[in-house]
Amino acid sequence: MTAHSTEKAVDNAVDGVDAVDVVVVGGGIGGLANALALTQKGLRVRVLERAAEFGEVGAGLQIAPNCTRILDHWGLLDEVRSLGVLPENIVMKDAVDGSELTRLDLKDVEARYGAPYLVIHRSDLHGVLLRACRRAGVDLVTDVAVTGYEQEDGRATAIHAGGRETAPVVIAADGIHSVARPLLSDDEPVSSSYVAYRGAVPATQVEALGVSMRDVVVYVGPKCHFVQYPLRSGEMFNQVAVFESPKARAGEEDWGTPDELDHAFADTCEEVRAGLPLMWRDRWWRMFDREPIPTWVTGRIALSGDSAHAPLQYLAQGAVMAIEDAYVLSEHVAAQLAAGMGADGLDWDAALAAYGAVRPEHCRRVLTTARAWGELWHHVGDERLWRNEVMRSRDVHDYSFVDWLYGPTALTPDEEPTMFAPA
Ligand SMILES: Cc1cc2nc3c(=O)[nH]c(=O)nc-3n(C[C@H](O)[C@H](O)[C@H](O)COP(=O)(O)OP(=O)(O)OC[C@H]3O[C@@H](n4cnc5c(N)ncnc54)[C@H](O)[C@@H]3O)c2cc1C
Repeated sequence: MTAHSTEKAVDNAVDGVDAVDVVVVGGGIGGLANALALTQKGLRVRVLERAAEFGEVGAGLQIAPNCTRILDHWGLLDEVRSLGVLPENIVMKDAVDGSELTRLDLKDVEARYGAPYLVIHRSDLHGVLLRACRRAGVDLVTDVAVTGYEQEDGRATAIHAGGRETAPVVIAADGIHSVARPLLSDDEPVSSSYVAYRGAVPATQVEALGVSMRDVVVYVGPKCHFVQYPLRSGEMFNQVAVFESPKARAGEEDWGTPDELDHAFADTCEEVRAGLPLMWRDRWWRMFDREPIPTWVTGRIALSGDSAHAPLQYLAQGAVMAIEDAYVLSEHVAAQLAAGMGADGLDWDAALAAYGAVRPEHCRRVLTTARAWGELWHHVGDERLWRNEVMRSRDVHDYSFVDWLYGPTALTPDEEPTMFAPA
């Protein structure tokens, strides 16, 4: 094996004996979550990550109760709580006049769903999962870029420049540009023409701005929105500025540039404009998602996380869904193990079928609702006024719009909750 391993590396295919039960491709939040969950069930797991080091780029993440409940199940919630912030409210405001439209009381949310709504630096969440994987004995291998897949006789192989990794199952958690996804679909990532700027800065830099250090605040505006929340016990402050790029709409290659950022927010309220100079201006994230697909499993290869269901981020459920995927598959594996055959006799086909029966439909709902939610946020003119009216008239204790998301993760299709009735 020529690939460099940070921990230990075993050539999985040299003597034809599986050294591990599962190979996970991709060491992002989704890949590590799968590795941890399956290792906790007693399986031997290897993660192949193409980067030289495990890590996450970016700023904050919101994680809703349907994720923190699972982190608790895995024994990680105390550590995650200690690194994150429990905001008091999600407050939605109009980005033009700054007025409040509606809010979610997050203490109520924790009481209702039995798990907290947290915000955390993404590298902190990734770090929690990475440390847990190390403690559990996951084989973590870096510098391995998987380029293709093969499978036969109930075993799957991930192919890379340094060789091949064969196991009873390969989980492809390799993100929105997944190499495995073409095995299941010929779709491409879909551009929304929206772009995100991020910025996480020391809290001292926002002291004079009068921002809330207790809430997640979302300003929704014409073809733009702006999100603010504290991170790391209030030591840092996170902002995300998102807007539609006219250059993207015009088909230009060079889209999402800082001049477009300034222009997009020129007519927003003072509070939003005050935060903009703190955004990182040397990098930006073009917003793509994927069409929902009904099938994520082919033979012994399964998609998971963004490779299966990259969303637009408006419901803050991308990483959350990745963690739910890992939980659901591992619980079905556990059910098979409990049937008594042990890891070697594990009925993978049954476990993968159970996973594939429930997750694609849930994630289809999230993907399509995220698109619609984004449209609602970004209304212009009369539609913006209508949107404000609808949001202001919402009873702040009405949870019908989030019950289907924040409740317990469905393990079977009959557990999937019904969705809300659109306003
Ligand atoms: C602006 C923005 C804000 C967001 N906010 C939230 C939020 O608040 N809450 C939330 O839940 N989600 C949020 N998301 C979504 C979330 O970030 C993603 O859904 C999540 O990180 C996906 O995790 P993943 O592990 O599936 O994929 P990725 O994070 O893309 O990880 C894939 C990993 O696979 C590796 N890899 C790729 N190809 C290969 C290969 N061929 N071989 C080996 N390794 C490979 C990559 O290097 C990477 O480490 C947001 C996204 C954006 C853009």
